Amino acid sequence: MDRSSHSRKKLDLTGQRFGRLTVLHPVDNIGDRTAWLCRCDCGRETVAKTVHLRSGHTTSCGCVLAENPALHGLTYIDGTCVEMLRAKTVRRNNTSGVPGVDWRADKQRWRATICFKGKRYYLGSYKVFADAVAARKQAERELHGASDAALAAVRRWVR
Ligand SMILES: [Zn+2]
Repeated sequence: MDRSSHSRKKLDLTGQRFGRLTVLHPVDNIGDRTAWLCRCDCGRETVAKTVHLRSGHTTSCGCVLAENPALHGLTYIDGTCVEMLRAKTVRRNNTSGVPGVDWRADKQRWRATICFKGKRYYLGSYKVFADAVAARKQAERELHGASDAALAAVRRWVR
């Protein structure tokens, strides 16, 4: 009788998902650990140990860790006017010279707004120009941060 196979009951993880990984099939053990070939949502394949998959230690081919959170955030919001924001483009009808800050003559206030994923969000209106600029700068910092922080900020503005 084969001693190695009867001493360990092999768990079958085939088809299960762990984070970004979908288990394809078992591969040769790593040491005495069962290992699995997994396909990551990013398209790459990787080998992971059962113990690491089940503990949540391994949730991707490494792309999650490799991605700079800030860069990930920018990728996520790519193709929106955040690109304009980065280029510091000032719209032609802008009245203040600062992107996202406009003078509202009807309300006699400075209005701060920001674009994210194709939508414009209202950040508040201010009597003092510097306050409107500060609100806009704060929003820019939040959008340029990690994607989670950016989405949390947008959720707050959406209310
Ligand atoms: Zn990946």
